[in-house]
Amino acid sequence: MTNSIVLEDIMLEDIPLGLADELKDIDVSFTTTVASDEAAETGKTVFFGLPLPVGDVGEVKARVLFCEKTENDNFAVTLEIVALDIRYISLLAKILKGESIAEERPLWGIGLKQTNGAYASIVNCPAGVLNADQLAKIAEITRNGAGVAKLTHAQRVILLLKPAQLDTVRAELKSVGLRIGVLHHGIRNVRACCGALCNLSQGLDGLSLALELDKAIFGRAAKFDVKIAISDCSRNCLESFCVDIGLLGNNGAYDVYVGGISSSVHFKGLKLFEGIRPEKVIPLVERILEWCENTAQDGERLHKTLERLGFSEAEKKKEALVSAAAMFEHTDIGDDMRSRLERTLARSFGLVRMRSEVRG
Ligand code: SF4
Repeated sequence: MTNSIVLEDIMLEDIPLGLADELKDIDVSFTTTVASDEAAETGKTVFFGLPLPVGDVGEVKARVLFCEKTENDNFAVTLEIVALDIRYISLLAKILKGESIAEERPLWGIGLKQTNGAYASIVNCPAGVLNADQLAKIAEITRNGAGVAKLTHAQRVILLLKPAQLDTVRAELKSVGLRIGVLHHGIRNVRACCGALCNLSQGLDGLSLALELDKAIFGRAAKFDVKIAISDCSRNCLESFCVDIGLLGNNGAYDVYVGGISSSVHFKGLKLFEGIRPEKVIPLVERILEWCENTAQDGERLHKTLERLGFSEAEKKKEALVSAAAMFEHTDIGDDMRSRLERTLARSFGLVRMRSEVRG
């Protein structure tokens, strides 16, 4: 009887693929069955790559236990797994055992292979604040790694590590109160402007608020990425219109914008609430996250959720936008205005529903 196939379309190779710098023998071997379009010889050692949800490919070493032809002229190959790519041991083991990895959320930003051979690992730095000990530790890890670190737009630090550092980097960061940051399916680094350090902050302190918000929601899983930014005045230094949840200081309180995104298709966030006192921000953000968790589809950023919710209502009214969009014809501004207007209308209708549901 053929074992149930855990993985389809696996190409088994005779020699290491070179994806992993090290294939680590596992303590307790286990078996899995894969589908391959070529037969495999019993007893032979094989290697194959597995695409991972972190966007990389992990390497596996295995021994062929048996191989049989299936009804659709493929081969079901049962393998004893003997060694795994040192960077992704637990993730690979889960996938090979057919276990759900949906619970592996958030996906942590650790060991992401770069084109220069280094393994990028993200350091969570709410508001981009690091103390002297943390900077010293980052310098030490960097010195032992690729020799340089990278700052990101989201106020995070990217460490560029050697493979041997991946086992110890979490503990090293923890020793100075730092943590690996989120890559996907969770709350990204909470960004903030200079807050009370800036004399334009109108009595607000977005910097301290970001640190408190991070404590409340760090590590929380989400259907996809949630980016949060706090700017304490209308100068909007942290681009609060361009993130999933953006706070913008206004007369000593915050206006809250949602559904912004600054990627290939960019949308300005839409105003959900205004005049939120600082002490009410964290409970409100938690309610928004809960609403997203209950309403979003898997892999959906907030702007897409809003658009999906408002789509059918906008469809009925979109003809009214045709003449407005036509005015942009021949302007060559690099934007499809008809699509932008229709999608903004849909997101706006979605926002109205979100507002009523979050308000409760
Ligand atoms: S957003 Fe306003 S308060 Fe914050 S740093 Fe910029 S100018 Fe200062």
